[in-house]
Amino acid sequence: MTFEALGLNTSILKALTDAGYTKPTPVQEQAVPAAIAGKDLLVSSQTGSGKTAAFMLPSLHRLAAIEPAAAGKTPNQEMQAARARGERPRFKPAQPKMLVLTPTRELALQVTTNTDKYSVNLRRIKAVSILGGMPYPKQMQLLTKNPEILVATPGRLIDHMESGKIDFSQLEILVLDEADRMLDMGFIDDIEKIVAATPEGRQTMLFSATLDGVVGNMARRITKEPQIIQI
Ligand code: AMP
Repeated sequence: MTFEALGLNTSILKALTDAGYTKPTPVQEQAVPAAIAGKDLLVSSQTGSGKTAAFMLPSLHRLAAIEPAAAGKTPNQEMQAARARGERPRFKPAQPKMLVLTPTRELALQVTTNTDKYSVNLRRIKAVSILGGMPYPKQMQLLTKNPEILVATPGRLIDHMESGKIDFSQLEILVLDEADRMLDMGFIDDIEKIVAATPEGRQTMLFSATLDGVVGNMARRITKEPQIIQI
């Protein structure tokens, strides 16, 4: 099996070649075509299986296919346009197209670093991390650029959501990475709140070491006719 055969666009294929990836891992072989087709996924796989690329490659492929015109102005551009019209610019929330929730800062940073690598030839697409412990002004600066992709730990994300800095009404793709660990860490209420703020019609992908018990219940509630992948 090759990455070409999975249906990824040439910009992404080039980035993978440059990163030294020669062939997809088993979880990528199963997840990528299903996710490109827009299906929800429930995936049980371990760290080291290549799960980050399994959700990020098809997501980048889909985000790259969205017309630039539909992407609209960034909040920064809107504020500049308002100033040019002599109006006082109003703060406009970021409207990400994709959200990845992770249990820890370390994992969020790792996901963002990998995303930068895979999206190096997709100029329009930027990913930023929203993490506890990072200074607010720095995060506000990142959010005003209206990145397509947010990678976040649940607690800090809720702060920004509740203070009106992020609007999830345009979200197309939601990923819960290491969902079992997020639940073990007590993030269930935060996750429920975040999921409730996203559109019903979104694509949802959940990755977890196990799909039993509490995590399995949540997984079934937040996905629609998911494809189940067990590696
Ligand atoms: P993950 O399971 O997502 O944490 O990935 C584990 C490691 O494998 C990361 O360092 C990735 O960069 C790398 N990786 C993921 N997919 C591939 C692949 N198809 N070929 C080579 N390395 C990969």
